Amino acid sequence: MGLSRRDFLKVSASGGLMLASNLTPVPGLAREPVHLLPDAQGILYDATVCIGCKACMTACKEYNHLPPDHYHPDNIWDDPVDLSAKTINIVKLYTNGTGVAKDQEKNGYSYIRRLCMHCVDPSCVSACPVSALTKDPNTGVVRYNKNNCIGCRYCQIACPYNVPKFQWDQAFPQIVKCQLCAHRFPQGGYAACCEFCPTGASIFGNVQDLMKEAKRRLALKPGQMAEYPLRRVDSHDKTPRKVTPYLNHIYGAQEGGGTQVLMLANVPFNQLGLPQLPPGSQASHSETLYHTLYKGMIVPYVVLGGLFYLIYKNTTGHELP
Ligand code: SF4
Ligand code: SF4
Ligand code: SF4
Repeated sequence: MGLSRRDFLKVSASGGLMLASNLTPVPGLAREPVHLLPDAQGILYDATVCIGCKACMTACKEYNHLPPDHYHPDNIWDDPVDLSAKTINIVKLYTNGTGVAKDQEKNGYSYIRRLCMHCVDPSCVSACPVSALTKDPNTGVVRYNKNNCIGCRYCQIACPYNVPKFQWDQAFPQIVKCQLCAHRFPQGGYAACCEFCPTGASIFGNVQDLMKEAKRRLALKPGQMAEYPLRRVDSHDKTPRKVTPYLNHIYGAQEGGGTQVLMLANVPFNQLGLPQLPPGSQASHSETLYHTLYKGMIVPYVVLGGLFYLIYKNTTGHELP
């Protein structure tokens, strides 16, 4: 597989960071990692329960006022193949061999959702020099403020999940990503993807409750009947289903310091396109360096100012007042 421009930038950026941190030990470079907030809100996605109906994608578009994404230009319907500036939540398909057995790595298939993971200690927030991306102090949702954004796209390079997308086709482009439908919270709403998921494959709620639910599912025996909550983790509306096998791995419990979107599956997550990340927060190591690099942009402005001064002086023969 070739190295994409994005991957090249990521490798270059992380290589540069590693080089810089090796060559220039900065005292106090690392800050304390951010921990999961008690009222953190998130999503549990269970690929073994997902039927690939894409109702979550339709609801997401509707409640976030996003236009259709035409991968095949002749199609009149929405047919995205990946996250984009028009698609902030996508259900993708993994297949192998004959592709007949659901949730099997060999000769099987699995669905997998891709969206912002709402990292506990987000690299995008850490990399953003102007606080256009922030983590809500109560819900932990990673929000975007277009009024602060300067379009530097550091967040795109910093995100290990390739989530933030840039509106290249707009005159005044913004970064686009899932914000967990936080605009619906004040009216008692929650993530539209979970509200409209018919099977309970995506459920919304307090992250600690979602983690308990994920552990409960992993403790179930394949073949037994069990109740699965619909829409919200604390819902009394449950659906019975025969348990199928799970990998003993809650994706997001540890990865990169943890995420508020947790995932279960029976196919290894790296096969499903999710990155294998070390358990600790990467943002806590890189934040000071990112900000130092950004402050370095002051230098070009100083040089530019000096050039303007010289031009003015040489063309007028006068000192500036
Ligand atoms: S997944 Fe990417 S965009 Fe979302 S919070 Fe984490 S670092 Fe930020
Ligand atoms: S939380 Fe809202 S914005 Fe995020 S994927 Fe679900 S529907 Fe889309
Ligand atoms: S709505 Fe639920 S079952 Fe349908 S694709 Fe989305 S997560 Fe899967």
